[in-house]
Amino acid sequence: MTAKIRLCVDHPLGTGQSVPLTEAQAHYLFGVMRLGAEGQVLLFNGRDGEWRARIAQAGKRGGLAECEEQTAPQRMPPDLWLVFAPVKKARTDFIVEKAVELGAARILPVQTDFTNSERIRQDRLQAHALEAAEQCGATHVPVVEDLAQLDKLLARWDEGRRILWADESRAGAAATLAGAAPGPWAILVGPEGGFSPSERARLSGLSHVTPISLGPRILRADTAACAALTLWQAALGDWT
Ligand code: SAM
Repeated sequence: MTAKIRLCVDHPLGTGQSVPLTEAQAHYLFGVMRLGAEGQVLLFNGRDGEWRARIAQAGKRGGLAECEEQTAPQRMPPDLWLVFAPVKKARTDFIVEKAVELGAARILPVQTDFTNSERIRQDRLQAHALEAAEQCGATHVPVVEDLAQLDKLLARWDEGRRILWADESRAGAAATLAGAAPGPWAILVGPEGGFSPSERARLSGLSHVTPISLGPRILRADTAACAALTLWQAALGDWT
């Protein structure tokens, strides 16, 4: 039988390794998915690749899985971060989910001058990232950082990491990354209200920031995040 259910665990994985399952994982596997003892799951932990495991114990409050065979090596995404201004809850959830699927290595919500939300539930967004990794076959779960202020983030930024600034004022210009150097990058996407004049002045003056158009139309922030990640991955990432 092919194991299809994937679970991210916080435990080392290797041949014969026993992996304890949490109450939430037991509820999902045995209650929701109706898996029982001897059933199979795929496990990953962000370090040891993906392993097929057999359920050795199935209980209401927990369980035990035993690793049998490695089914995929550990794969890290390219060194690409997504820096984005949170929008409404459902769209912010969407951005995090799609960032994981599209191969962002780290996710950094930022408060900009025109950001509507002053708070995010970092733990909830991290759980979304984990679930997205389980669904899409990734073996790495990007860290979702807590909300930071854009100006403070820029002040402590390591200039070795270039910033691809999705700049709505360039809508209509050619959307291209031709000639861009590989290496660590971050994509920056603004909120519904776009970037303020002072943010634009600051970003325009930074030599490690590359402004980019995402085509002739103004995209919603969640669409813009997906488009920018796609553009970067196709030009410099692991889609090439
Ligand atoms: N209120 C802004 C306006 O009317 O110009 C639009 C903001 S847009 C909804 C949200 C974010 O998506 C922008 O800050 C930018 O980062 C990105 N974005 C949307 N369309 C874009 C485009 N065509 N080119 C570059 N970035 C874009």
